[in-house]
Amino acid sequence: VDEETYAKTAAGSSETRGPTIFDKIISKEIPSSIVYEDEKVLAFRDINPQAPVHVLVIPKLRNGLTQLGKAETRHAEILGHLLYVAKLVAEKEGITDGFRVVINNGPTACQSVYHLHLHVLGGRQMKWPPG
Ligand code: C5P
Repeated sequence: VDEETYAKTAAGSSETRGPTIFDKIISKEIPSSIVYEDEKVLAFRDINPQAPVHVLVIPKLRNGLTQLGKAETRHAEILGHLLYVAKLVAEKEGITDGFRVVINNGPTACQSVYHLHLHVLGGRQMKWPPG
């Protein structure tokens, strides 16, 4: 879908932001190890994995939702889809016995890329509470 259609139908946001590194990953300008892709989302391996399986699931939006804390009611559908894809990724990666889905929101939570993303982590024993 083009940007305008996406903004109207899925995760477009009135919040403006500059492009991030994830835009270049979506456009394949920067190569990534893709685990799952459809017209709305892309899932690819994190370059700095924190577990044997560490996949990021991101919406294919531009100038869109920077972080969960900026979500509006109209984003509910894409948010649900991202979470469902996290489950598909866990199945594909063979970690359904135990996996974790994380969203870092804002500086205090150590968010570093301001393009909404879910971390899917697994393949090792997790600890609680997280750091
Ligand atoms: O939640 P946070 O914003 O910190 O997560 C960003 C994630 O994006 C990091 O885990 C980082 O390793 C990953 N990343 C990546 N490829 C890049 C830049 C960042 O996988 N080119």
